[in-house]
Amino acid sequence: MLELRGINTYYGNIQALRDVNIKINTGEIITLIGANGAGKTTTLMSVSGVVPPRSGEVLFEGNPIQGTNADKIVKMGICQVPEGRLIFPELTVMENLDMGAFLRNDTAGVKEDIEHVFSLFPILKERRKQDGGTLSGGEQQMLAISRALMARPRLLLLDEPSLGLAPLIIRQIFEIIKKINEESNTTVFLVEQNANLALKIAHRGYVMENGEIILADTSDKLLANEDVKKAYLGL
Ligand code: ATP
Repeated sequence: MLELRGINTYYGNIQALRDVNIKINTGEIITLIGANGAGKTTTLMSVSGVVPPRSGEVLFEGNPIQGTNADKIVKMGICQVPEGRLIFPELTVMENLDMGAFLRNDTAGVKEDIEHVFSLFPILKERRKQDGGTLSGGEQQMLAISRALMARPRLLLLDEPSLGLAPLIIRQIFEIIKKINEESNTTVFLVEQNANLALKIAHRGYVMENGEIILADTSDKLLANEDVKKAYLGL
């Protein structure tokens, strides 16, 4: 579904990604793990069109999309949930969800999808008239994921959904990510520092250090890898 081929991405003169190669098959959950500043967010931004790579190819269903505008990429079926949630704090939960559907004009389908996200996250239904900024951190993360789902993505890019949340909420959110993947066949590219949890729901994983992929394997093998255990799993 998605292939990154030899991606090099820069911020000015600083090279953030070096020859990054990643392949994601339809229906998979793939995680990219790594320390602070490794280049994980930049990798997602290189896919979503926010920070276009300087060289290399991003292929979505076989077609090159590098250099395509971010809004066109959303229309193609790729949607990113940014780190730190970035919901609209002064809009209500319902209005935030409507914003997620702004590229759609199938009113009936949008209504259906609102009910669908409310079934995934019932707390959002209770809070539907509340301003986004007054929600708890966990609820804001649920809203950010739901807003992305309103675009009916076939590929969902998730940037550190666990950031700053309590362990119980993180587990709930990860369960739902798995459910979204299994029930609606949404392919998921999950960037995480919480390697342990990410590898538990992902089919395969990539490990990034200093802008480079240093390891790629099935999640089971990465969880059992001694170097990964020491560096990323705290074991
Ligand atoms: P974190 O887990 O802390 O979000 P990350 O793995 O997602 O880290 P990136 O945010 O992709 O890493 O950053 C990769 C490198 O690019 C870092 O050295 C960072 O300082 C640099 N960088 C990121 N954004 C910018 C920017 N807007 N301008 C300049 N340098 C940047």
